[in-house]
Amino acid sequence: MTVSIAVLARMYAHLPPKTTWPVAVAVLSISPVSTLDAQNLTVESLTDYFSQANIVDGPTLVDCTLSAGTKSTCFQITVKNGPSSHALGPWCPETTTDTAEAGGIWLENGEVYNVDGAFIKNLSTFYEDEHWQLFDSSTGDINVTDTYEKCAGAAKPDVEPEFQQHCVQCLNDYMDDDASVTYTIPMPPVVMDAPSPTTAAGSGVAFNGLRLDAPAPVSDILGNYTLAPFDDCGGHINLHVGYHYHAATDCLEETAVATEHGRAIGLAMDGHWIMERESDDGSVPSDLDRCGGHVTNESGYHYHAGEPGSNAILGCLVAQYGCVSEEPGSECDASASRGGPGGSGGPDFAAAARTLGVSESALMDALGGPPPDLDRAASQLGLSVDELQKALARH
Ligand SMILES: [Zn+2]
Ligand SMILES: [Zn+2]
Repeated sequence: MTVSIAVLARMYAHLPPKTTWPVAVAVLSISPVSTLDAQNLTVESLTDYFSQANIVDGPTLVDCTLSAGTKSTCFQITVKNGPSSHALGPWCPETTTDTAEAGGIWLENGEVYNVDGAFIKNLSTFYEDEHWQLFDSSTGDINVTDTYEKCAGAAKPDVEPEFQQHCVQCLNDYMDDDASVTYTIPMPPVVMDAPSPTTAAGSGVAFNGLRLDAPAPVSDILGNYTLAPFDDCGGHINLHVGYHYHAATDCLEETAVATEHGRAIGLAMDGHWIMERESDDGSVPSDLDRCGGHVTNESGYHYHAGEPGSNAILGCLVAQYGCVSEEPGSECDASASRGGPGGSGGPDFAAAARTLGVSESALMDALGGPPPDLDRAASQLGLSVDELQKALARH
């Protein structure tokens, strides 16, 4: 893609005040060939944005049926799992004396915690539940799912009893060599009256070709006395989609695309851009809706990724979403295939929160746990226990 004079002029017109020019120059050097032009999306420009992804097929334009049944045109790209623009891991420390370098991170109550040996050792205090015991108290060795079988038995909602009390990690080596993920994303977006949760199709895809997922099903994970840490880049591996992010961190900077008020890190499943949390001047826009989006004159509607500690890259999707599939070239009917590979099988907290008219993080905070406390949550949210149970059961 070539950068037109008009686009360049627009970019410079939006550069921050002179004191922060070095930052702006650094931004330009990261993506010298691209500036994002949301009004003028083409397959060519998207090919350019995904130039560092491990592409197996596409990008191309295909017919698709979106989540609410609208027949439309979608952008389709098939990418390979695994290492891309940054190294993967580590996730689980091996002993209770290991430092933060040997482990990844955990997200709780809006905070990012280093998963070092001491964190694992302290879990029963951290979660106020004496049943936590992920390590051998005599040797300090941590129970880690360090084989394919253990990963397969533990990295799912219904963890087999023998794999409870484990720090869960799966390695990229466990994936089939030809495993790939196909994203089919509406172009242009078709906005809905009410937003959708990200749990069915995920949040989107980063420009490095890796999945920006829905929130990690923390209640399922913790309820089984497992911890499935994310690496310092906010991602971990499951055997379906491979490596995927539950947090947007600065690891995505390298493949980000410069825009007039921040860097775009990827494309949401509804076809809108996902920008970094902060604009180039370091501020977070104050007018974000509960999905994390807002409208600007130059970029139209777009999202800003949530804070890493929030375990929500996007709060929801305002437009109809497309499809994520492990079958290359499969036809996309998002209205038929609810519950993509990222679906947890447990309660759909995002959808329940939407039903109840509260934010998902407020719902999760109120539920607490594990185990979740319905009585406390209901009184905290000003609902009856019955209403709460119905909302959680419906999904
Ligand atoms: Zn995950
Ligand atoms: Zn913005």
